Amino acid sequence: MAASLRLRGAASSLHCWTCRRWPAAAGLPAVCSRSMASKTPVGFIGLGNMGNPMAKNLIKHGYPLVIYDVFPDACKEFQDQGEQVVSSPADVAEKADRIITMLPTSINAIEVYSGANGILKNVKKGSLLIDSSTIDPAVAKELAKEVEKMGAVFMDAPVSGGVGAARSGNLTFMVGGVEEEFAAAQELLGCMGSNVLYCGAIGTGQAAKICNNMLLAISMIGTAEAMNLGIRLGLDPKLLAKILNMSSGRCWSSDTYNPVPGVMDGVPSANNYQGGFGTTLMAKDLGLAQDSATNTKTPILLGSLAHQIYRMMCAKGYSKKDFSSVFQFLREEETL
Ligand code: NAD
Repeated sequence: MAASLRLRGAASSLHCWTCRRWPAAAGLPAVCSRSMASKTPVGFIGLGNMGNPMAKNLIKHGYPLVIYDVFPDACKEFQDQGEQVVSSPADVAEKADRIITMLPTSINAIEVYSGANGILKNVKKGSLLIDSSTIDPAVAKELAKEVEKMGAVFMDAPVSGGVGAARSGNLTFMVGGVEEEFAAAQELLGCMGSNVLYCGAIGTGQAAKICNNMLLAISMIGTAEAMNLGIRLGLDPKLLAKILNMSSGRCWSSDTYNPVPGVMDGVPSANNYQGGFGTTLMAKDLGLAQDSATNTKTPILLGSLAHQIYRMMCAKGYSKKDFSSVFQFLREEETL
């Protein structure tokens, strides 16, 4: 009994999640080629606030990396650790057949995939290209078509969770693309996230992400407004946060990422709004929500207002600060 259980366990560890085949005979060292691929280097492009800790989690899970970032300093610590640094996305595609991209905007993603020295210049047939940047769903669909023409597979897999979750490997990935390839993507994404969810056809991962971030922006502005009003009414901010977090106003922005300095430790508001999720990136995501709403004739009254607020913040010098700095922005506007 124990022996047969052990054998079954051994066989399941050899099961290939990608081609969903079992080795010819359980117990034999036969491993299909895609299982072997787990030992081959994974490409990673874009090693910023999110990409850096995500790449480190892949290394922790035993994947050697081939990396590229347009900002060479971003690669330095990986080079020092012995990872391969190359000089263009095309070079990454030459050396790796599974590549993850984590870039700021749609324009950067188009450059990295379709630019003169882009991935598509050297991509190998059968490669799996996963874009975890938050970009326009329409751009994700276009990139998928171009990638498909080259005989490779593209999936959109944007993330939620922020830098803290990227460090601890607890991101949520929202994945769009061909369902048969989801398991192959999951093998890598599972090293960086605790939730990897299949959303549907290409672009649906981005759609889920855009909806989440529109709600996040609205709830962050709402939390900042409520906290600011309470403080002006004489309430202690820590006490007010405690009450909100025991009451129906509670949300992630109030209980996990409170925007008021001094209320919580270890969040950007405790560190002059440094690090975290930049106001520019939030304004970008709200712009994507706005475009998608226009294209689908969907009313997003609060989403549109949130977009204007974050655009105004960028124009007023908040672009490099975390998006929770909307609290500071409201404080500065309070004489109006
Ligand atoms: P970031 O600006 O910190 O990092 C992006 C990295 O991409 C930088 O190192 C930059 O040099 C590099 N890059 C830009 N253009 C490039 C190019 N053409 N070729 C190679 N490298 C290039 O951004 P981030 O905070 O890591 O966010 C990345 C993506 O993840 C964004 O789309 C963002 O909306 C999304 N996101 C961020 C957070 C967060 O909390 N920061 C959370 C969820 C999702």
